[in-house]
Amino acid sequence: MTLIETFGFTSRFLKRHVRRLLHYGVLGIFGAGLILTVLTGCAVNPVTGERQFSLISEDQEIQMGKEADEQIVASLGLYPDQDLQRYVSDLGMKLAASSERPNLPWTFRVVDDPVVNAFAIPGGHVYITRGILAHLENEAELAGVMGHEVGHVTAKHSVSQMSKQQLAQLGLGVGMILKPELQQYGQLASAGLGVLFLKFGRDAENQADALGVRYSNRLGYDPHQLISVMTTLDRVTQAAGGRGTPEWLSTHPDPGNRKENIKAQIDTLRPGTVGNKVVRDPYLKQIDNVIFGQNPREGFFKGNMFLQPDLKFRFEFPDGWKTQNQKQSVIGVSANQDAAIQITLAKEKTADAAARAFFSQQGISADGTRSSNVHGFSASAGNFTAQTDQGAMQGTVMFVEYGGNVYQILGYGSQQSWSNYESAARKSIGSFDKLTDPKVLNVQPQRLKIVKIDRAMTLEQFNQRYPSAVSMDILALINEVQPGGLLKAGQEVKQVVGEKFE
Ligand SMILES: [Zn+2]
Repeated sequence: MTLIETFGFTSRFLKRHVRRLLHYGVLGIFGAGLILTVLTGCAVNPVTGERQFSLISEDQEIQMGKEADEQIVASLGLYPDQDLQRYVSDLGMKLAASSERPNLPWTFRVVDDPVVNAFAIPGGHVYITRGILAHLENEAELAGVMGHEVGHVTAKHSVSQMSKQQLAQLGLGVGMILKPELQQYGQLASAGLGVLFLKFGRDAENQADALGVRYSNRLGYDPHQLISVMTTLDRVTQAAGGRGTPEWLSTHPDPGNRKENIKAQIDTLRPGTVGNKVVRDPYLKQIDNVIFGQNPREGFFKGNMFLQPDLKFRFEFPDGWKTQNQKQSVIGVSANQDAAIQITLAKEKTADAAARAFFSQQGISADGTRSSNVHGFSASAGNFTAQTDQGAMQGTVMFVEYGGNVYQILGYGSQQSWSNYESAARKSIGSFDKLTDPKVLNVQPQRLKIVKIDRAMTLEQFNQRYPSAVSMDILALINEVQPGGLLKAGQEVKQVVGEKFE
C-alpha cells in the first residue's frame, strides 16, 4: 500500500467500495448502475458493420468507462513518469485516430504494476503496465499490443460481453457477500474490478489481433512484431513456472494459434503496404530507468510479515493466510476464503473520529467501542455486525494513529465462520507496529538500465561485464534473446540494476 497523491479520492473510493460491498454484494463496484440500464437493443458494430445485440448505448458505454477508469487509476496507480506517459499516450492516440471509432474520449496510460499486462475498458481507456513495457523491445511491438487493446474497444468486445454478463446477473441476481473482496485477491492486479476483466473468447482475441495488425500497420509499423510479443508472452508463461500464467494471457487466451492467425492476417495486406518501422533504440531510451518488478517502497512481505518502508510500519497476518499488497490496501484472506483482514487509510484526523464515522454507517451495529493503544500508539477499537442483502457479517475493527495517518485495520467474516477466526484476527490486528530495521527502511526498487555495448558478445559475457540483479533466464527473456544468444556491437541491451529485497 502507498500514500497515493489523490488521498481524498482514495478514501472516498474506499468508502464507496465498502458501502457498495455492503449494499450490493457481488454486483460490487460496477453492477449497481447497470441493473437500471434500459434495454437499447441492437446496434451496428463499428468494425464488422454487423448488427449486434447490446444493452448499452454509446453514451452509457462512455459514462461507464469514465467511472471505471477512475477506479482503475485509483486502485492500480499511474506510473509517475510524465515523459513515459506522454510517449505512450501519443502513440495510442495515433492508433485510435486510425481506428473506426476515432471520436471516443480515448486515454492511454501506464499503470504502476509489475505484472506483464495490457487491458482496455469500454469507452476507450487503454492501460499498459510498466511490467509489459519492460518486456517489450521496440515501438512496433508496443503499437501491436496497444492496437490489439484498441481493437477490443472498437469491436465492442467488452460491451457485448458485459451485456451477456449483465443479463445473467439479472437472472441470478444474488451472490456471496465476501465475493468481491475475495475476487480481488484471486485476480491479483485486477483488483476487485469484477466484471471489467472478462475473459475474452478466442474469436474476440483473433479479431483484436487482426485489428492490432491493421492499426499498427496503418501507422507504418512492422505488424510482424506482434508475433514477437506472443513469443515473449509464451516465455513469460514458462518463466513463471508454477506461478501461473501472466495476467494478459489469462484474459487473452491461446497464444499458440494466435501467431498463425496474425501471420494469416498480415498475408491479407496488399503487397507494398506492409509497414516496416520497428523503432528499437528510441523505445529503449523511453524505458531506460523504469522500475522493474515489485517496488518494495510500496511494501512487501517476508512470510506473513508485511513491511512498509515509506509508511514505516509492520504488520503480521495470521499463519496460513494468503496475503496481497495493493495500492490502497493490504489484505489477508483465510485459507478457506471465508474471513479477511484489510488495512487501509482512514480520512479522519484521529482514531476516535474514524471509529465514530465507521460505526455511524448505515447497516453497521457496534457492540461497544473502546479507546486503547497498540505499541504505544493511540487507537480506537470495536466489534461490529453488518447487515447486508446477503446476510450478516461479523468482525472487529481498530483505528490506529501513527506517523500522521490513521490506519483502519478491519477483520471480518461471515457470521457463521467468524468465531473460528476471531482470536487469530485480534492477535494479528494487535501486531501493528513501527518499522525500525534500517535495511528495510532504505530499500530501493530494481530498475532497467539500457547499456550500449561497444563490441559483440554473448548475453553471458554481457552479464559478467554488466551484472544484473535477475536470473539469466529473465535477462534473456526481457532482451528477447535465447540464452547463449549473440548481442551485436553497438546494440542497446537491457540490464537490471539494484539489490534483491525479498
Ligand atoms: Zn485481447
